Amino acid sequence: MADIIQLLPDHVANQIAAGEVVQRPASVVKELLENAIDAGADTIKLIIKDAGKTLVQVIDNGKGMSPTDARLSFSRHATSKIRNAEDLFQLHTKGFRGEALASIAAIAHVELKTKQPDDEVGTCLVIEGSDVASQEVVVTPTGTSVSVKNLFFNIPARRNFLKSDAVELRHVTDEFHRVALAHPSISFAMYNNGSESFNLPVSNYRQRIVNIFGNKTNEKLVPVDEDTEVLKISGFVGKPEFAKKTRGEQYFFVNNRFIKSAYLNHAIASAFEGLLKSGTHASYFLNLDVDPQTIDINIHPTKTEIKFDDEHTLYALLRSAVKHSLGQFNIAPVIDFEHDPSLDTPYNYKNNQAKAPKIEVDSNFNPFKTETKFSGSSTRQTASFKPTPNDWDSLYVGMESKGNDSEEHSETDFSELQFESEEETTSMFGSDQPVETGSSTYQLHNKYIVSTIKSGMLLIDQQRAHQRILYEEFLKNITIKEATSQQLLFPLQLHFSSQDIEVVRQLKSDLEHTGFVFSKVDDGEVEITGVPVGVPESEVSIVLEQLISDVENEVPDSHFSATDLMAKSMAKSLAIKTGQTLKSDEQEYLVNKLFACKEPNMSPANRTAFITMSVDELDKKFM
Ligand code: ADP
Ligand code: MG
Repeated sequence: MADIIQLLPDHVANQIAAGEVVQRPASVVKELLENAIDAGADTIKLIIKDAGKTLVQVIDNGKGMSPTDARLSFSRHATSKIRNAEDLFQLHTKGFRGEALASIAAIAHVELKTKQPDDEVGTCLVIEGSDVASQEVVVTPTGTSVSVKNLFFNIPARRNFLKSDAVELRHVTDEFHRVALAHPSISFAMYNNGSESFNLPVSNYRQRIVNIFGNKTNEKLVPVDEDTEVLKISGFVGKPEFAKKTRGEQYFFVNNRFIKSAYLNHAIASAFEGLLKSGTHASYFLNLDVDPQTIDINIHPTKTEIKFDDEHTLYALLRSAVKHSLGQFNIAPVIDFEHDPSLDTPYNYKNNQAKAPKIEVDSNFNPFKTETKFSGSSTRQTASFKPTPNDWDSLYVGMESKGNDSEEHSETDFSELQFESEEETTSMFGSDQPVETGSSTYQLHNKYIVSTIKSGMLLIDQQRAHQRILYEEFLKNITIKEATSQQLLFPLQLHFSSQDIEVVRQLKSDLEHTGFVFSKVDDGEVEITGVPVGVPESEVSIVLEQLISDVENEVPDSHFSATDLMAKSMAKSLAIKTGQTLKSDEQEYLVNKLFACKEPNMSPANRTAFITMSVDELDKKFM
C-alpha cells in the first residue's frame, strides 16, 4: 500500500494550534497584552469592538521589533524569550511558546505596526489567514500595535460558537483585569466600542484594585504580607462582611501571572472558616512570589495552571498568612460573633507562638432574620411570605386556592389533590402530636412540610415550593408589569463594579416591573428607593448580586429567557431555605400558595417540589 502520512502544511498546523490557544476574543486579548508587557511597555491600550469579535487591538510603547523580527514573529515556534528547554525554568516573561501570533494570524486578519526606539520609521505588516498580504515601511510611534480583526473569519463553526457580545465582553474584561491587577506599575486603558471603560494610571497595588473595582473597595481590603524562605505572599483579602455570593473577585498571581487553583482557593476559604455567611465567598487579590525553578507553567497552552513542587506547604503558608491578617486586623466580630480577647493583642507571630485566632460562632444566627428569636425557633420575613391577601391568584384562574387566614374554606380542590378537613388531623397520640391545634400541616426537620390529603399524605420540600411560588409571582409581575413596590424610608445605596452596573442597567426595566425603583444606576453605584412588596431591604443586595452572577454566567439571547432567568434568580435568593422553622400559618400559606401555582410539581430548576404517598402505599409498608 502507498504511504499515507503527510506533514501538515504550516497554515493548517497553525489553525489547529490556534484551537488550543485561541478560544475566544478574550484569548487574543490575553496574548497581546502579555506580549506588550514582555516588550517592556509602561503604557498599554486595549481597544475592543463588538466584544472583540470585530476588533481586538493592543497598542504598547515597548521595545518594538525590527522588520525581520516582525515578519518572523508570526512563524510558529518563533520566540525571542527562550533558547532552550532549561530556560523554561528561569522564566521571567509571560510568553515563551512562540505560538500566539502564529495561531492568531491563522484565524484572523492581523495588522502589525511596530518601531524600535532608535529607528526613524517602523514596519507595517498585514497578514490574512497566515498569508502575508503586505509589508511596508510606515511612520508609527515607538512600540507595537497589533490589530486582530474578524476573528475566526475562516472557521465559521468556531465563530458561531462564540457567545453573545455581553458574555464575550465579560471574558475580555476579566482578562484585562487579571493582567492589569498583576501589573500596577504599568498604565492600562481599555476602550469598548469607542468609549473608555477603564483608565488605570500607574499606582500601588491597593489603588489598582480600587481603580478597577470601585472606590468602595478600599475599605474592604485587609493587607496580607508574609515573607518566608519558600515564598513571599503579598496582597489583600476582602473583609468577611463584604463577601459576595459570586466568586468574582478571587485572584491569585504567581510571579505576576494570573493562575487558577482550586486547591489554593481552598486554603483561603479555610482561613475564612467561621467568618463568612453561608453561600458567600471571600474576595482576594494575592500575589505569590516563588522561585521560578519550583514551578512548571508549561502544563497548559493558556498557562493559567501551574504545577508547584510543593503545593502542600504552599497551602499551609497561604492559609496561615490569611488567618494572621484576619486576626491582626481584628476582623472577626462583624455580626454576632462572640468577642474573643485573644484578638485584641496585636499579633506578632515572628516573636511568639501565638495561637491562631479562634472564633466562636452562633450557629443559630441568621443574618437575614428581621425579628428576634422567639420560642426557640427563628423565622425570617421573605418575599410575599406573609399571608398578605393580594389579587395574585386571579391570574391562575381555575385553580382555587385554599383561603387565607382571613377567609374560611372548609375544603378546597387542588386539581387532583384533596386536602383533609382540619378536624381529622387530631390523632390518637393526643399531646404527643406536634401539630398545633387546628393545623393541618407539620414541619419535618425544618425541611419538609407534611400535610394530609384525601388519598394519603403530602410531603413538600419547603425551599423548592417557595421558589416555585415566588418564581411564578415574579414572572407574572414582569410580564404584566403591575407589581407594587414599597417605598424605602432612606434610599439604599449599593456598589458594584462597572461591568456589574452594566448588567443592572440592562435588567433595569424588568426589575422595575417586579417593583424595584431605581434613582441611580451609574458610576459604580445603584441607588434604590423602592423594592418589591415583601422583599426585605436587607436582602436586596443579595438578590442583585445573585442576579448579576446568574446573568453573567448565562446571558440568554431572547427576551423571554432573560425574564425567566431573572424570575428564577430572584426566587432562588428570596425563597425560604431548608433549615428554617416555619410557624403553622406559614406552613399552610406555603401549601396553599404552592397548589395555586400553574406548575406546583417542580421547582423553577425542575426539581421535585412535593411527593405524595397514598394510604394504600402506607398500608403496604405496614404489612
Ligand atoms: P511568545 O510570546 O511566546 O514568544 P508570540 O507568538 O506571542 O510568542 O510572539 C512571538 C515573538 O514576537 C515574541 O517572542 C516577541 O519577540 C515578538 N513580539 C510579539 N509581540 C510583541 C510586542 N508587542 N512588542 C515587541 N515584540 C513582540
Ligand atoms: Mg506571547
